[in-house]
Amino acid sequence: MLKGKTAVITGSTSGIGKGIAHELAKAGCNVVLNGFGDSGEIEKNRAALTDEFGVEALYIGADMAKPAQIQDMINQTRNTFGSVDILVNNAGIQHVAPIEEFPVDKWNAIIAIHLSAAFHTTCNAIPIMKGQGWGRIINIAAAHALVASPYKTAYVSAKHGLAGLTKTVALEVAQLHITCNAICPGYVLTPLVENQITDTAKARGITEEQVVSDVLLAAQPTKKFTKVEDIGVLTTFLCSESAANITGAIIPIDGGWTAQ
Ligand code: NAD
Repeated sequence: MLKGKTAVITGSTSGIGKGIAHELAKAGCNVVLNGFGDSGEIEKNRAALTDEFGVEALYIGADMAKPAQIQDMINQTRNTFGSVDILVNNAGIQHVAPIEEFPVDKWNAIIAIHLSAAFHTTCNAIPIMKGQGWGRIINIAAAHALVASPYKTAYVSAKHGLAGLTKTVALEVAQLHITCNAICPGYVLTPLVENQITDTAKARGITEEQVVSDVLLAAQPTKKFTKVEDIGVLTTFLCSESAANITGAIIPIDGGWTAQ
């Protein structure tokens, strides 16, 4: 379905981004992997995508907090593949603390990686997409783009901002065969969530088991975590021609969380 197209997926060395890269490669798309981690593991995953799906896969370790590195990543993608057809803004970090104790460096990093990075990748990719007359931008937001939870000021602010960026970009390119949408997962069991269980337990004065049952899954009426693979399939659908008239949409995949 996406044979010959090229996708940049930020934060694709782990969790949701890794799953999205897998699904896009399965659909025949060349992929640019990005993110941090063990270099051997990253290379193993890159090689597995080329072997299994016969696509090209390139790893670029750009730091999404650094605008110059973002620009280099988009340029390197275009120079290598001749196009940037699909952009998935997914890289992310989390920090959980009451606002009066929220470290300023964590605030700055979360806003930079979740929100400003999507601005910079989009600024650099849009002229290329306009030149091609086709593009898909998918921002991995969160249920926290629509509702808040305590102790996550930076994350909730960044994700609400990302929803605004999504809608604005969608309107600016609406007639150019470029769509821009946000996917809003509920809780997904990835390292990002697993790592915040301890901090949430501390902030709320409860056990880690209570965080899973009373905080995480309490928010989701289905009582099920969202699956990485399902986010990958939804992303691939948004890249299809059937989704050409879906733009500026903020799409929850959250077990009913934001329906309440
Ligand atoms: P994860 O920790 O498994 O993966 C995060 C990825 O981002 C990794 O590849 C990491 O190396 C990369 N990354 C972090 N900082 C970076 C930087 N400065 N530059 C480049 N890459 C960087 O987390 P995940 O759960 O897969 O989260 C992915 C996205 O999904 C995030 O935007 C997150 O907010 C969103 N999300 C996650 C959940 C969830 O429950 N896991 C729910 C809703 C939304």
